[in-house]
Amino acid sequence: MAVTGQQVASVVSAVPTGLRIGGRWVDTDATVKVEDPSTGEVLAAVADASPAEAIAALDAAVAAGPAWAATDPRERGEILRRAFELLHARADDFALLMTLEMGKPLAEARGEVTYGAEFFRWFSEEAVRIAGRYSVAPSGGTRLLTMKQPVGPVYAITPWNFPLAMGTRKIGPALAAGCTVVVKPAAQTPLTTLALMQVLIEAGVPDGVVNVITSSHAGAVSEPIISDPRLRKLTFTGSTEVGRTLIAQSAQRVLKVSMELGGNAPFLVFADADLDRAVDGAMLAKMRNIGEACTAANRFIVHESVAPEFGERLAQRMGALTIGRGIDDGVQVGPLVDAAAVAKVTELVDDAVSSGGRVLTGSGALDGPGYFYSPMVLAEVPPTARMFAEEIFGPVAPITTFASDDEAILLANDTEFGLVSYAFTRDLSRAVTVAERLESGMVGINQGIVSNPAAPFGGIKASGLGREGGPEGIDEYLETKYVGLAL
Ligand code: NAP
Repeated sequence: MAVTGQQVASVVSAVPTGLRIGGRWVDTDATVKVEDPSTGEVLAAVADASPAEAIAALDAAVAAGPAWAATDPRERGEILRRAFELLHARADDFALLMTLEMGKPLAEARGEVTYGAEFFRWFSEEAVRIAGRYSVAPSGGTRLLTMKQPVGPVYAITPWNFPLAMGTRKIGPALAAGCTVVVKPAAQTPLTTLALMQVLIEAGVPDGVVNVITSSHAGAVSEPIISDPRLRKLTFTGSTEVGRTLIAQSAQRVLKVSMELGGNAPFLVFADADLDRAVDGAMLAKMRNIGEACTAANRFIVHESVAPEFGERLAQRMGALTIGRGIDDGVQVGPLVDAAAVAKVTELVDDAVSSGGRVLTGSGALDGPGYFYSPMVLAEVPPTARMFAEEIFGPVAPITTFASDDEAILLANDTEFGLVSYAFTRDLSRAVTVAERLESGMVGINQGIVSNPAAPFGGIKASGLGREGGPEGIDEYLETKYVGLAL
């Protein structure tokens, strides 16, 4: 059923617009405007934090730290479990908010609510399984005891592309571990995080345990928090460029960091692949979130014997997608996040075409209002094209070919990034060998999506440090202390 203007107004007006500092909503004189990328219209204006307010949020997290760390694990878990249930109860509102502030179609936004909520359920279960070790030293006598303790106050910076899930993936394990948090969402998508804060309050998160700062000057509010000796952990999801800056700032204090950064995923299709599955997988890996995902297939590396058929079938599917406002019925491709995103994709496509790439489907940027780009497939793109080195972050699928497995692996690994790779083959031993040789933190075999709250999500090389989700996810928020016991 089509979303009405009244529904939009009531969902947006229910979201608090202040900063959340130590149990209070704080308004500021200056505000940050939040735009709907499908119309360019302003949806709301939220508080614009100053560096002093950022430090006030850290003060609150520091003050709430000892009591939260001492809260029974079961109680921490039950609060997260309630938050999981509340997210499901309000799934439609959260989905609509995300569609409004970043453009993804409603069906995908609902999928993100399920995915994002699952991090709260997973970590509600992990909260009661934090354990240490006891052993006898090899030489006898001394007993070796290890214990896990919360790392301390956390600063979490999240991106605009998955406004809910990138928050729950950090807040869930931090709270489960006994850490307090200051969250800074992206300036383009603060509403989802503010609505999430409401859910956390209702679930019973005590004052000061989670604080939210929204701001139009990310660097100016983040630097004082990162350089404050009371902060114990920085967790960031965003571009490799900003990640590098934050690692450099953190190095001054030897601050513990987790970095979920950019990707440049190869999508390998071998000659023996089931092409139906490969095309289905390609649609998911390329088109999830309109191509604006760190996990998006960025380079299609296809065996020369199947490349023409694969390209034709992918182009047919991509060309048949319905483009429009994410809130409208049947829409499969929403707008890109802003005009700069459209300009970047256009530039990369121009470069690929001038280097020999052939357009199989797609006409590029569409007229406004809104920042729409029609899904495109390009064949015969040389691996030297810029889009093989940079994230496209849009609905464009470039194809290049290979002749041997060694060549495929060489092409796939020829990037500074290493987040995820996809490979399609029916041959089990090839699948295992390829998975072992691919330089990435995650590999999808015969599937175009790998994200799963029960699995360790993360990259190697310039794609980041640390893992989110799985049993590994909570470790990022725990310190290991060893106690030697002489008997
Ligand atoms: P971005 O420009 O790096 O921004 C990410 C976050 O960092 C935003 O909250 C942003 O705030 C903030 N930020 C920007 N400059 C900062 C600074 N100097 N100090 C502190 N914070 C700063 O990335 P994006 O364009 O939002 O997101 C897209 C990128 O994220 C892509 O590269 C994508 O691959 C990556 N990503 C990675 C994963 C993963 O798990 N590996 C998941 C999703 C996205 P403002 O919004 O106010 O600028």
